[in-house]
Amino acid sequence: MLLDFEKYIVPGMTHWGHPGWFAYFPSNSSPPSVLGELLSAGLGAQCMSWETSPAATELEQVVMEWYRKLLGLPESFTGVIQDTASSATLVAFLTARARAGDHASRFVSYASSEAHSSVAKAARLAAIPSERQRVIAVDEHFAMRADDLAAAMQRDVEAGLVPGIVVATMGTTSSTACDPLRVIGEIAARHRAWFHVDAAYGGSAAIVPEIRPLLDGVEFADSMVTNPHKWLMTNFDCSAYFVRDVDALLHAFSVTPEYLRTRHDRDSAAVNFRDWGIPLGRRFRALKLWFVLRTYGADALRGMIRKHIALGSDLAALVSAAAEFELMAPAPLALVCLRHVPAALRGNEGKLAEHNAALIANVNAHGVAHLTHTRLGGKYAIRVAIGSFRTEREHVLRVWELLQREARALTRS
Ligand SMILES: *Cc1c(COP(=O)(O)O)cnc(C)c1O
Repeated sequence: MLLDFEKYIVPGMTHWGHPGWFAYFPSNSSPPSVLGELLSAGLGAQCMSWETSPAATELEQVVMEWYRKLLGLPESFTGVIQDTASSATLVAFLTARARAGDHASRFVSYASSEAHSSVAKAARLAAIPSERQRVIAVDEHFAMRADDLAAAMQRDVEAGLVPGIVVATMGTTSSTACDPLRVIGEIAARHRAWFHVDAAYGGSAAIVPEIRPLLDGVEFADSMVTNPHKWLMTNFDCSAYFVRDVDALLHAFSVTPEYLRTRHDRDSAAVNFRDWGIPLGRRFRALKLWFVLRTYGADALRGMIRKHIALGSDLAALVSAAAEFELMAPAPLALVCLRHVPAALRGNEGKLAEHNAALIANVNAHGVAHLTHTRLGGKYAIRVAIGSFRTEREHVLRVWELLQREARALTRS
């Protein structure tokens, strides 16, 4: 069977752990994480309530406390592991809507035009009609314009609507732009709207002291999500959701039929995580995160993030200095957005998009690097996301060399 696995499955997979992985965002795995996953599978753990998994429930509490402290989040936040950031953001929406009570029919959501698609999906699943989902404009660096947010909320209040939830992003998917959380948090607080911070990718970097300022203002948040399964060596899935008002969460999610009652339901010290999210059954995800944090420790994890960010800054500098290449956004978090602009195509956005799409295809065809794209301000952009834990300088230099070589070849043809 393992021979068949090698023969049929491995060649048919997209290898996210390859050092030439620059697509999307990283989704790292690591030996301690794999060991934790293996042991959790062996235990056959089902972590819906304290009684069904006492040590798993308590370890999840311990590990989320460690992680909260590593991220420099206030003590008022309590953590729970969700499967994905998409689920966590949906949980935030559903909690905010439940909290709105009788006002739910006038509930308005706010997020920037650069927010992740999971935000629009959560709004739809929370039954917020599209005419009550506000898309706030971004500035020249793709961060939310807080003044536009304030104006939109004011208009809605005057129209008799209720500002229900504001989602800000720390590290947008297209360019790792960071919304001004403090200002946005103050505006949300003024309107008593739920303030959710989507730091799915970028949040991991906040364990590095010099990056932590990008999370400044998260103190105002009602909830925040960040994915150890992206940048923090913990294999998919493991998404950390931090929430301030646990009672609001439980009020929205807790349902206890007779067959789930245990002797510990009224014991306030026993947490039943089934009430903290959508599914009843839960995997033992805390184990792998515990193994990762203990094996590497804070310093090594910080070192890895610093290395990736430095590789990103160096590539951004190379791109800025290269004739006919354009750096399309600041690169604070190891994602470099660029495009090739040959003189003949300058100003022709349609042709530039075709040209750069061909460039990605030709680079990817070498099989040593994988790139994807986005659009920034309507312009086609190549994303080079550096964050696979085996990626070294040589791999970044190789993809840069390939980009230049294939760009020349395309321009000649
Ligand atoms: C990746 C990403 C998500 C979605 O993460 P999942 O865990 O796959 O749901 C949400 N928001 C941002 C900013 C992301 O980068």
